[in-house]
Amino acid sequence: MPDPNGFLRYDRRLPARRPVPVRIMDWREVYPPAGEELIREQATRCMDCGIPFCHDGCPLGNRIPDWNDLVRTGNWDAAVESLHATNNFPEFTGRLCPAPCEAACVLGLGGQLPVTIKQVEVEIADAAVARGGLRPRPVSAPTGKSVAVVGSGPAGLAAAQQLARAGHAVTVYERDDALGGLLRYGIPDFKLEKQHIDRRLAQLAAEGVRFRAGVNVGVDVTAEQLRAEHDAVLLACGALQGRDVPETPGRQLRGVHQAMAHLVAANRVVAAAGEGKPALATLPDGTPIDAAGKHVVIIGGGDTAADCLGVAHRQGAAGVHQLDLYPEPPAGRDAARDPWPTWPWILRDYPAHEEGGERVFAVAVQEFVDDGTGQVRAVRIAEVSVEKRDGRRIVTALPGSERELPADLVLLAIGFEGTEEQPVLAQLGVTRNARGAVDARSDWQTDADGVFVAGDMHRGASLIVWAIAEGRAAAAAVHAYLGGVGELPAPVDPARQPLAAR
Ligand SMILES: Cc1cc2nc3c(=O)[nH]c(=O)nc-3n(C[C@H](O)[C@H](O)[C@H](O)COP(=O)(O)OP(=O)(O)OC[C@H]3O[C@@H](n4cnc5c(N)ncnc54)[C@H](O)[C@@H]3O)c2cc1C
Ligand code: SF4
Repeated sequence: MPDPNGFLRYDRRLPARRPVPVRIMDWREVYPPAGEELIREQATRCMDCGIPFCHDGCPLGNRIPDWNDLVRTGNWDAAVESLHATNNFPEFTGRLCPAPCEAACVLGLGGQLPVTIKQVEVEIADAAVARGGLRPRPVSAPTGKSVAVVGSGPAGLAAAQQLARAGHAVTVYERDDALGGLLRYGIPDFKLEKQHIDRRLAQLAAEGVRFRAGVNVGVDVTAEQLRAEHDAVLLACGALQGRDVPETPGRQLRGVHQAMAHLVAANRVVAAAGEGKPALATLPDGTPIDAAGKHVVIIGGGDTAADCLGVAHRQGAAGVHQLDLYPEPPAGRDAARDPWPTWPWILRDYPAHEEGGERVFAVAVQEFVDDGTGQVRAVRIAEVSVEKRDGRRIVTALPGSERELPADLVLLAIGFEGTEEQPVLAQLGVTRNARGAVDARSDWQTDADGVFVAGDMHRGASLIVWAIAEGRAAAAAVHAYLGGVGELPAPVDPARQPLAAR
């Protein structure tokens, strides 16, 4: 029986982050483990609500009160079991999820701070490794059916694991040289060290999943070959088409890049160093992959921008400005705008913000300024107001508010415009919608029969937790399509949206 007064006895506490001066000297994760005493105390704060709204916040339907209580009572093996019943990769979500479950926690309604659900999750996930490793699960008898999964991000890997465990022969195709999707080279090591991905890949391989890295489907293998070799195809190619500002004067200058070009290259340098291999020192256009000694301007306010900030500090930037088009959000939930249990618009401080840099809100870049040699030397910004008219965003610059910020390196982290237009789509007869995403019917099939879609490629740039949820649900649909015995869990349908007030 959970402790109904736990939250009255204990305040919300998280483990201290590693000290800033120490952690910016390396690429290791920012959070140390919480330790058993702290995490059991924090799990005690869960009230085991009659209606656990945390469930509604999480698209995976994680059994949060159950595993909170198992941790509270020190029942770690059962907690590991319960957590994995709904989530293939809790070590990813426990580290990286912004935790919509915590925004929906009932404690938030009564003026208390929510249960540290995400921290409990990661401690259980790590306990699984510490208590004998990620053991492969028994796989059902082979069905004789074969599935191609294109893309090895969390959506593709979750689907692959579900399908392999159901007895299908699964091959994951990945065009990158290493597996993991954005988790591998998009997200820096200080948020997710890569041994977590490698451990899961070893588990999937032991469960029979075949991996073919370095294979660009549509180029190295045609869709026709794929369809001939497999009974079903699941596309999980992500939403990697970066938004740009081609109309802003000076966009073509050296030193102005898509954030992902810099981030992926920087993360590759870290990976190569970890393997003792020589790393590339420049981007394909000859730009050094290094912010050392530079004035860096990051344009954008989301995950990608925060990751660029952390990377810039670790590379030794002279100074960093992070620009946001919108005004500074409030520190706490505005109940009129975003009532509990929805996801609130509030100022989010990532660990990277603690490490330095200056955030500038309600501004837009008017020009990237040339130093006279074709290299950027500054950005000219203006204060702006933003309003929505007829569904369109209207940005108005305040006259006389313009000023310059020094900039040797400018990184555009202003979002994604859906999945890339690439040969595999035309070969399969699959089209992108107006948002650049690929639509799914109610059974996760695309316009092409036997071709399914999941993750960011379907939803647009989103979160790992949604990618895993969609991967699981699409796997259930593929299993049904192949005439598999029984049903696999399907936590979401293609139309499911996050909790919202309007
Ligand atoms: C910088 C950054 C930081 C982020 N941080 C967070 C975070 O902290 N928390 C969070 O929840 N979410 C975060 N996200 C979002 C999260 O990473 C994505 O929502 C998630 O990875 C989507 O998973 P996916 O499997 O759909 O696609 P992806 O992870 O994008 O994987 C798609 C894969 O498909 C491969 N592919 C594409 N086309 C082909 C082809 N033709 N043949 C073979 N392979 C192909 C790609 O190479 C890629 O590896 C972040 C995103 C970015 C960009
Ligand atoms: S809503 Fe919060 S307190 Fe209630 S069951 Fe979920 S985690 Fe526990």
